[in-house]
Amino acid sequence: MASYPVELLQITHHYSGEPVLADVSLAFEANCVTVILGKSGSGKSTLLQVINGMIRPGTGTVKIFGEPISYKDIHTMRLQMGYVVQQVGLFPHLTIYENIALLGKVVHRPTDVIRKRVVHLMDMVKLPQAYGDKYPYQLSGGEQQRAGLCRAMLLEPPVLLMDEPFAALDYETKHTIYDHLLAIQKHEPRTVILVSHDLEEAQLLADNVVWLQDGTAKMTGDASVIRSIQESYRSGK
Ligand code: ADP
Repeated sequence: MASYPVELLQITHHYSGEPVLADVSLAFEANCVTVILGKSGSGKSTLLQVINGMIRPGTGTVKIFGEPISYKDIHTMRLQMGYVVQQVGLFPHLTIYENIALLGKVVHRPTDVIRKRVVHLMDMVKLPQAYGDKYPYQLSGGEQQRAGLCRAMLLEPPVLLMDEPFAALDYETKHTIYDHLLAIQKHEPRTVILVSHDLEEAQLLADNVVWLQDGTAKMTGDASVIRSIQESYRSGK
C-alpha cells in the first residue's frame, strides 16, 4: 500500500507542562489541499512545526513518505517540504529573483536550471518577469507573498506547508492568490497543508479539512464538514 506523504501517529506536545497537542493522529492525502482549521491557540502552528521537524513532539511519530522523521538529518528531509508563513521573510538586500533562486544555489543546482524554474514559477503566479530585478520593498504585500510561494516551490517539494500565509492580505489580493494556488495545483499537484482560521478560505481551497480543538483533531473529512464547524463557531462550543 502506498504510504501517505505526511502521517502523524499519536502526537502529543506540551509547552511548560501545558498540553497543546493531545494524541493527534492524522494521515494527509497525496496531492490534496488539507486545511487545518481551529480557533486561535488551538495548536495549528505547533502542529505544522511538528510536521516539518522544527518541533520534536513530546511523544508520537511523524512519518514523511512512510519514513519516521530523522531529526539528525532534518535538513535533507526539509527539502521535501516548502514552508510559507505570514511574514514572507524575503531578504531585503536580495532581488526578487535572487530570493526565489537562493535555495537552488544552496543545493548547487545548475544556474540555467534554476533560471528556467524561476521564470516558470513567476509565470505561474503571474509575477511579471521584470519584477525579478526589483527588491522586496518595491513590491506590494500580495506580490511579496507570491514571490514567497515561488521560493517555497523552487525545488519542487512534494509537500507544501503554509501557516496563515494570506491572513494579512486584503480580500481581492487573497482571492487572486487563491486562484493562482488552485492553478498551480492543476499543473503541478502537491500535498498542501494549510493552516487557517478563515472558513471561506477553507471552503475555496480545501479538499480535506482538519478541525483542531484543545489540541485534538476533532473533525476530519472532506470540505463538507465546514458547515458543522461554522455551527460550532456560532454556538461558541
Ligand atoms: P494556533 O496556531 O492555533 O494559534 P499555536 O500552536 O500557535 O496555536 O499555540 C497553541 C498554544 O501554545 C497557545 O496557547 C500558545 O500560546 C502556546 N505556545 C505556542 N508556542 C509556544 C512556545 N514556543 N512556548 C510556549 N507556549 C507556546
